[in-house]
Amino acid sequence: MVYLDYAATSPLLPEVIKAMHEAEQKFFANASALHTPGHLAMNKIEETRSLLAKLINAEPSEIIFTSGASESNNTVIRTFEGHKIVTSPLEHHSIIESAKVLSGDKEPALYSYMLANNEIGEFLPIDKITKKVHKNGDFAHSDLTQILGKLTIDIKALDLDYATFSAHKIGGPVGVGALYVKNGVPFKPFIIGGNQEKKRRGTTYNTIGIIGFGAALKHTIDHETWKIYDTKIRVLRNKLARRILGEIPGSSLNTDLDNSLPNILNASFEAAEGESIQLYLDAEGIIVSTGSACASGDIKPSHVLMAKTGDAEVAHSSIRFSFGLNNTEKDVEKVMQVLPKIIDRLQKISTIERKQK
Ligand code: PMP
Repeated sequence: MVYLDYAATSPLLPEVIKAMHEAEQKFFANASALHTPGHLAMNKIEETRSLLAKLINAEPSEIIFTSGASESNNTVIRTFEGHKIVTSPLEHHSIIESAKVLSGDKEPALYSYMLANNEIGEFLPIDKITKKVHKNGDFAHSDLTQILGKLTIDIKALDLDYATFSAHKIGGPVGVGALYVKNGVPFKPFIIGGNQEKKRRGTTYNTIGIIGFGAALKHTIDHETWKIYDTKIRVLRNKLARRILGEIPGSSLNTDLDNSLPNILNASFEAAEGESIQLYLDAEGIIVSTGSACASGDIKPSHVLMAKTGDAEVAHSSIRFSFGLNNTEKDVEKVMQVLPKIIDRLQKISTIERKQK
């Protein structure tokens, strides 16, 4: 299989599987309990907290574990319920939908801008945004889900008040994430009724998941994965982009290769439907997504591509190739062995249909 859907989720790293397997036997106890197994479990949770804090240049006390990026995003937006909430049109639905419901006109305002988009990889100028935001006494959040492990993150230099992370984009388990909350900024817990996370998030600790997240963070730090993305992965992504443009008539890129995450390539193929391309590639063992996996099953064109291109046809004919650490030159070769033929076939069918109409 050629897996090119890492931005949707990534396979568990071997060291994550090992750590979680061990944890099932050794660290299953309720981490809030006063007994010894509880303390041992809590120590492991704090190890993960320290690793994430170290990786993003934060204090461990500024990290709250959550069930994933969606909950982290929801939590920040809820904290500002009734306040002015400003987001970019490229945000994940967990920001856009909750802001739609909870936004009001109170001050101070919350500005939520992701550093890079998950569908097209595009960078947003959050440094300029945070500067303006803080001048006015407002607050800044960024969804850094796709950034962790891909770029170095210095949360203090980024000058953020809140930031969102998820374990399963870096080889950790699904169902674990984190929220960075700068010491002293407003915060309202999303899940109440428990003293966990210093009363900032109730419910029994997901110790095994958090240990898995820790193993993925350790891998990220030990291998300095951002360097691999900046070199090997960028070369593979750009090679695929060049070959698509050179070998497939009617192809265009929705990703600006000079202003995007190095692992994401979004391309459109004139007169070929994204879902059909995805299924034909799937039949060849090549796994990609159309726009955002979070929105698949939804027949509306991707809100991100609509915001960027304003063209429903471009959005409907788009495919996202997202690379991870395991991809090689061979994967690009394999895609290019089959993709031109698939597009050609679909374009021909589409022409026939059009003529018949
Ligand atoms: N934000 C972004 C930018 C994402 O890419 C995703 C996952 N597609 C999410 C939030 C949601 O992440 P999770 O599955 O951890 O809730």
